[in-house]
Amino acid sequence: MDLKQYVTIVQDWPKPGIVFKDITTLMDNGAAYKYATDQIVEYARDKNIDLVVGPEARGFIIGCPVAYSLEVGFAPVRKEGKLPRETIKVEYGLEYGKDVLTIHKDAIKPGQRILITDDLLATGGTIEATIKLVEELGGIVAGIAFLIELTDLDGKDKLEGYDVLTLMNF
Ligand code: 5GP
Repeated sequence: MDLKQYVTIVQDWPKPGIVFKDITTLMDNGAAYKYATDQIVEYARDKNIDLVVGPEARGFIIGCPVAYSLEVGFAPVRKEGKLPRETIKVEYGLEYGKDVLTIHKDAIKPGQRILITDDLLATGGTIEATIKLVEELGGIVAGIAFLIELTDLDGKDKLEGYDVLTLMNF
């Protein structure tokens, strides 16, 4: 299946000059969403994954059906102030300024094999911060899966040495 036909290109959103890849038109097509999920499940199947981890919010949309199929749990990575119990946090750079991602301190047990999911790899800042959280808790990043990689932004450079799957390149 050619998944690209289900991604809608939105010019100048959320700001002038940005060409946004809208995956909602992939998600609301049952066959396309299932196909994309199945590709990631197949990739992860032989990796002995214990837990799927994804950053809010689109990392949940990809990660939760994958976790369900693999019959493992899912742990959310969220912006600061959203998780109710003790967390660890990491700061990461945005184009302008900084942001913070957090995870519950007890979400991962040392030695657990983790699959990280997100919808899209751009600069790699979000995924790099997510990797830091997983590794700080002693998790082993066994795989990282995206629907989309924006190849011009070289986010892959931040993922050297990791096992990465991307289903579409733009
Ligand atoms: P990065 O941290 O790699 O620069 O940006 C990736 C993050 O921003 C992902 O969590 C992704 O959800 C979001 N993102 C950035 N650009 C786009 C886009 O064009 N489409 C979608 N769906 N998400 C984007």
